[in-house]
Parts: sequence; C-alpha cells; structure tokens
Amino acid sequence: MSIDTEKYQEILRELAGKATLVAVSKTKPVEDILDLYALGQRDFGENYVQELKDKYELLPKDIRWHYIGHLQSNKVKYIAPFVHLIHGVDSLSLLKEINKQGSKNNRIIDCLLQVYIAKEETKFGLDSHELETILKTELAEFKNIRICGLMGMASFSNNMDLVSSEFNYLKTLFDEYAVSPTANCQLETLSMGMSADFEFAIAAGSNMIRIGSLVLVVEISITKIRTCFVVL
Ligand SMILES: *Cc1c(COP(=O)(O)O)cnc(C)c1O
Repeated sequence: MSIDTEKYQEILRELAGKATLVAVSKTKPVEDILDLYALGQRDFGENYVQELKDKYELLPKDIRWHYIGHLQSNKVKYIAPFVHLIHGVDSLSLLKEINKQGSKNNRIIDCLLQVYIAKEETKFGLDSHELETILKTELAEFKNIRICGLMGMASFSNNMDLVSSEFNYLKTLFDEYAVSPTANCQLETLSMGMSADFEFAIAAGSNMIRIGSLVLVVEISITKIRTCFVVL
C-alpha cells in the first residue's frame, strides 16, 4: 500500500470538518485512489486531462473529480461531462469555453479563478487587476458556469512568513469579492494549501486544501530494488 493512512487521518482531524481535503492523485495508480476511497475520501484532484478521463471511467461514480492543472480550452470538452470543480481558470476565454461545454452537456460547471500570488516565476494565474476585470464582466449570459471561489499557490519557499503573507493576500481578495454575489458568481470556496504549507493556508482562512505527496506517498519497494540488482 502506498497511502499513508495515519497521516491522512491526522490531517482530517486537524481540519475538523472546516476545510475540504482534495487528495491529489496525479500520476498515482487507481489502487491508491481506491484505498483512500475505502477510508471515505471522495474528493480527488488531477492535473492531466487524459489521466483524469481514464480514471473517471475506471473508478466509482460518486467520486468528485477536481481538475487542478492548467486547462487548455481545446481540452475542456473531455472533462465537461463529469468534472466536479475546475480550480485553475485564468482567462475569460477559458471561462467562455467551459460555459459552452457546460451548455452542451446540459450542466452548470463550478469554477475557481486562479490568482497569481507567488513572488516567484510560476506561470499561471490572474493578477488582481485581471481578476477584477473578470469579476466585473457581465457574466449573466454565462448560464452554464458558476464561479464559486478562488484558488492560489504560494511561493515554493521555506520562508513561511512569505508563504503566509501570500495566503493572507488571497484571503483579502476573496473577502473583498465575496460580499457582492451575483446569480452565477458566489465566492464560497478558497482553495489554497498543499502538503508543504496547508497549515499556514488554513490559518489564513483556506477552506479547501489540495494534498498529494503527504498522503499518496511514492513508495520505493524492496522488491523493486532487488529487481534492479538482479538486472544489473
Ligand atoms: C501537485 C499539486 C498539488 C499537491 O502537491 P503536494 O505538494 O504533493 O501536496 C496541489 N495543487 C496543485 C495545483 C498541484 O499541481
């Protein structure tokens, strides 16, 4: 087994129901997902469209699939029939495409807008000005999407003061826009925090964390090491 059951349960206790844990299962086998599923986990996150689609087809249908990677417009159609929440929306044109595919599938697709909060050169996300532009756009005609929150990734850094300040900044933006909901834009979900920094994210007000490596561990098994020696 390559899930860390103890760690998983420890995190759930820490969250005490106040935040949703999305188990990030990218590159991990379906067996690991089923092990977590057996413990009651239902929210899983994936980064790659094809992998997500394959896993969706193989696995129980009550899993809530979160798409957490960078999504290209031409791939929205593959996940539109079933995706539970798209975390990384970072342009109006992507939002339009999600709306179009939502309409084709006769469903309303929940989305989070990704905000760029790190001080380092990570590639994706809106700055505060672009965020404002999207949120002030007339979204009423987009009947098949719902913007239900924001998502962000802090700097990959050991400087936890920096990480905390980035999370606090995103929480401030979230609070600012949460006060004026419209028909299809109600900011309720704040997706921030990963294995290395989720405690800081929770302290800053996150209510959805995305946890991969802490729970779904990469196991180097003794048998595999032995096999290597035999081959050598
Ligand atoms: C991989 C990934 C995670 C999980 O990262 P861990 O450090 O393994 O917890 C969370 N969010 C996004 C967007 C990711 O790509």
